[in-house]
Amino acid sequence: MNPTSFLDDRIDFLGERYRDSVTEGNYFYETELTGQTAATVDAEGTDSIMLSSYSYLGLLRHPTIDSAAHAALEHYGTGTHGVRLLSGTTTVHRLLEERIAAFKGTEAAVVFSTGYTTNVAAVSTLMSRHSVVICDKLNHASIVDACRLSGAEFLRYAHNDLEDLRRALVQAGDRPALVVVDGVFSMDGDIVPLPETVALAREFGAAVMVDEAHSLGVLGATGHGVEEHFGLDPSAVDVKMGSLSKAIPASGGYIAGSRGLIDALKHNARPYIFSSALPPAVAAAAAAAFDVIEAEPERVTDLQRKAVWFRNTLRDAGFRTGDSSTPILPLLCGTDALTFEMTRLCRKNGVYVTPVVFPAVQKTVPRLRLVVTSALDDAALRRGVDVLIDAGRATGLIGR
Ligand code: PMP
Repeated sequence: MNPTSFLDDRIDFLGERYRDSVTEGNYFYETELTGQTAATVDAEGTDSIMLSSYSYLGLLRHPTIDSAAHAALEHYGTGTHGVRLLSGTTTVHRLLEERIAAFKGTEAAVVFSTGYTTNVAAVSTLMSRHSVVICDKLNHASIVDACRLSGAEFLRYAHNDLEDLRRALVQAGDRPALVVVDGVFSMDGDIVPLPETVALAREFGAAVMVDEAHSLGVLGATGHGVEEHFGLDPSAVDVKMGSLSKAIPASGGYIAGSRGLIDALKHNARPYIFSSALPPAVAAAAAAAFDVIEAEPERVTDLQRKAVWFRNTLRDAGFRTGDSSTPILPLLCGTDALTFEMTRLCRKNGVYVTPVVFPAVQKTVPRLRLVVTSALDDAALRRGVDVLIDAGRATGLIGR
């Protein structure tokens, strides 16, 4: 047997979906952007309104953040050339971790190279085959992968369903258990019922971890996240995870929590021990962004106001938008074909949207996943909504 034939077969199999979507003219992914701000993109030669950016607070290109990155670049150069424990820790890494801990009201914090590896690091280090990890069914893929890697028994409960969470906690029995949830669910834009989730976990002696990739900077009167939104004490959540690639315009992820938790992760989490540190310019940008969020809280209120207007206007126009109550708004299209047609029409008319279909979401709920940012002024938002409504009418998704 030709030793590479299995690889050829596998590559052929793995490429099938991609090839089909290109053939059908439905490949809208990895579109090359030749320029971007938080509000606009230059996509394939068209200047478009950006309705698919994670820069929730419009901090991309913020001068304070850019100059912090420039200064670190000048001082340290582009790379770290080392893992954190050996030669990869600079003063900006330490300052960033202190900044995150202060922002989240914890004793300490640790940063990792991406949000994805942060989840993998935390769950796989804290849990073992003697323990149980309990997840909402709509938790992000990085949490799912982290749970699998941990070797712990992996229980899932129906989305935001507290009775089903109770069932899973009962099933965990006396074993150590960690309940992991997204603060804001990334595809649906709804919020975890955190006070009830924490109370239930505590009733069973379980610990709680929250992924704040989409709630940091977004929830709470001053953008401090999910505890602020619900008026909870910072101690309500044992393991606070966040990404530095969304409201924070950098990259990386963090865990904030007790000093003991952070020391344990730093000295046991394999993605921390065996992977190079964040580039100093990225760490400096992230640290400056936390300062900007606190110095300019009006960005948070502005975002929240715009998200409400955007959601209500699209709902009033007849679109189905699920249970979102945040800047992430799923526009449910019913079929993949309609989702792609909506994408085509919006992009043709200068509004950059992205289609999300199976396997990123269940087959029955393909959607445009729209995101409002505070960088969009009212006129741009109005224009975005008008284009969406025209496309909805042209495709028959909403009535005339
Ligand atoms: N958690 C959630 C809920 C996410 O949506 C994402 C990224 N989309 C991540 C974690 C991973 O974060 P990063 O992009 O920083 O790796």
